[in-house]
Amino acid sequence: MGPIESLSMTRKTGDNAEHCTIMQLPCNWQVREAAILAPHAMHAIDSAGRAHNESPHPFRSAYQRDRDRIVHSAAFRRLAHKTQVFTDYPGDYHRSRLTHTLEVTSIARTLARSLALNEDLAEALALGHDIGHPPLGHAGEDTLDELLREAGGFNHNRQALRIMTLLEQRYPGFPGLNLSQEVLDAQSVRAKLPTAPPPLLETQVVDAADSIAYDTHDADDAIELGFVQLNELLELPLVAKAAEHVDSQHGKLDPLLLRRAVLHELIELQVAGLVTETSSRLRTMSDTSVDSIKKASAEGNRLVMHNQKIQQGKQELEEFLFQRVYRSDQVMKIRQQSQEKMRDLFVWYCEAPHALPSGYFQRSETVGVLRSVADYIAGMTDRFFNRDAAYRLEK
Ligand code: MG
Repeated sequence: MGPIESLSMTRKTGDNAEHCTIMQLPCNWQVREAAILAPHAMHAIDSAGRAHNESPHPFRSAYQRDRDRIVHSAAFRRLAHKTQVFTDYPGDYHRSRLTHTLEVTSIARTLARSLALNEDLAEALALGHDIGHPPLGHAGEDTLDELLREAGGFNHNRQALRIMTLLEQRYPGFPGLNLSQEVLDAQSVRAKLPTAPPPLLETQVVDAADSIAYDTHDADDAIELGFVQLNELLELPLVAKAAEHVDSQHGKLDPLLLRRAVLHELIELQVAGLVTETSSRLRTMSDTSVDSIKKASAEGNRLVMHNQKIQQGKQELEEFLFQRVYRSDQVMKIRQQSQEKMRDLFVWYCEAPHALPSGYFQRSETVGVLRSVADYIAGMTDRFFNRDAAYRLEK
């Protein structure tokens, strides 16, 4: 039985509905998924659905729809003006949360497609993975966490869930984005919620893509901003391995081209290594159904893994970046200034909650002023935060 015939044997409801209303044929996405996804992939037809029932879309699978809802959200657009690591640094070269997210998505799609996983789901997860970040990078997140210590704390992964299920107000029938359960589950895994189910392979792929992206682009941004020199990075075995490959392919290059080629190769090396290692782990499993993947994950056996050598190389690179960049005097000084400003603005709104936009002020009656102020500030971009702080605090 071919994919089209087998699909016509079942009929489900909601986004899983069997037939396109226009063509009276199985939806293109169903045929495509049945033909190209592996048994260990999460098929959209098997989705647990959405919290609020909706009619099926004639062309898009549940996960394509999730992806589009995230892209059209205000939280996603604001990523353009939230910084990743280098808050308050001049220039437009270094990554914003948006460009980081797009790099993660690009890598996650390559990984998902190479492993015959659901690329639409991986894309939706990657596009949404950082939408909960507040302004001012991790300094902003740590400050909000400290300010909310008595009210449950603050974490960007949990905040992404609040945005997805409550804070985005775009649709008349429900609060939030009403995303598929698998997207919310993946975000619960990232937030380390005790209720989170074992991660699907698509969830694991996005975690790996996030790490590949930030290890590489933070190194690139750090060189551009003068924190480190390429020669220092070349002393790290993983970077040296990438440089060796560039040398064998292109010979001697000028310093700028060499740096870019080495960083591209660093991504390539990690992606190729991850696909090879994960594929070989999948081959050792006698049953590669989604249920058995979940069972392995529940027992602590993640299947999307780097080999030991690459993993060790990544740890060395991360340790180097931690010491030389994330905890450098320059970054720590800006971090301290950012934290002070964040505290001051937070206290200002707590003392004057009527100055919050009406939706946040109304919600403060049910979730408390602390949480509502945190929701409002967390939604700000860096530039809006700085403008608002200047206006509120300098009056
Ligand atoms: Mg990220």
